[in-house]
Amino acid sequence: MAVLNRFLRARGSAISSISRSFSSSSLNSEIDLRAASSVNPLSLPLGRETKDKHVQWVFLGCPGVGKGTYASRLSNLLGVPHIATGDLVREELSSGGPLASQLTEIVNQGKLVSDEIIINLLSKRLEAGVAKGESGFILDGFPRTIRQAEILEGVTDIDLVINLKLREEALLAKCLGRRICSECGGNYNVACIDIKSENGSPGMYMAPLLPPPHCASKLITRSDDTEEVVKERLRVYNEMSRPVEEFYRSRGKLLEFLLPGGIPESWPKLLQALNLDDHDDKKSAAA
Ligand code: ADP
Repeated sequence: MAVLNRFLRARGSAISSISRSFSSSSLNSEIDLRAASSVNPLSLPLGRETKDKHVQWVFLGCPGVGKGTYASRLSNLLGVPHIATGDLVREELSSGGPLASQLTEIVNQGKLVSDEIIINLLSKRLEAGVAKGESGFILDGFPRTIRQAEILEGVTDIDLVINLKLREEALLAKCLGRRICSECGGNYNVACIDIKSENGSPGMYMAPLLPPPHCASKLITRSDDTEEVVKERLRVYNEMSRPVEEFYRSRGKLLEFLLPGGIPESWPKLLQALNLDDHDDKKSAAA
């Protein structure tokens, strides 16, 4: 934790002026995409200049919601690193380091890794990034507890927290459909979500995200993407991470974004909600 403190204090001084320019009062704390897109365009203080501002953003959301997909696209668009603590945990697991066996058990039970371990992994990743000249970040999967949020708040200013939401019925299927190419690391999803409209609630369609032919035979499934473990992760999210949403909501930093469907419908609307829809590079921000 000391490392994270040292690191973020140092970089916080350079970046905090950016953070302050994101007046929290001008962030909409309760934005329902359907209302936002159909009524008035949002006026977040972002837009073109965001690219040069090295944003410090956080993605929240249940397992399977698509945090990784959208955080990675925004990271390409804005030129800041996408740092997913789940990836850091999986890298530690596959490295076979001293923590590996302890972490395997925790992850495969769908529980949270201790705050100390996560902060240690994150500190190391941030320091390595600084050494490479990185600045700004999009955090995905951190903070996941109130304590993590408090620690982060104690060391740096977060500009914006995007809380991705997806209809409950789709979350489990999305997790179970996740596939990773064991060779290139590409993320795919074989689930086809087709929720029919019923009793006044609208339908929703999310096409599968299928791999290109050269990845198709190399797909693997995450060991924690089984039905039992996903259900436990959803339960843990509601217990430990849901309060983090309120933590940021009460600080006026939370942007709620209800995904309307798959990437083709959701990506342009997310850009619109972030006031990035006129960004020059938006079309090339590939997943
Ligand atoms: P999810 O799809 O559930 O969002 P992630 O890839 O973000 O999964 O994380 C995988 C696992 O890594 C989690 O179930 C948890 O065990 C661990 N993990 C990731 N981030 C954190 C965190 N911030 N705090 C504690 N544990 C974490």
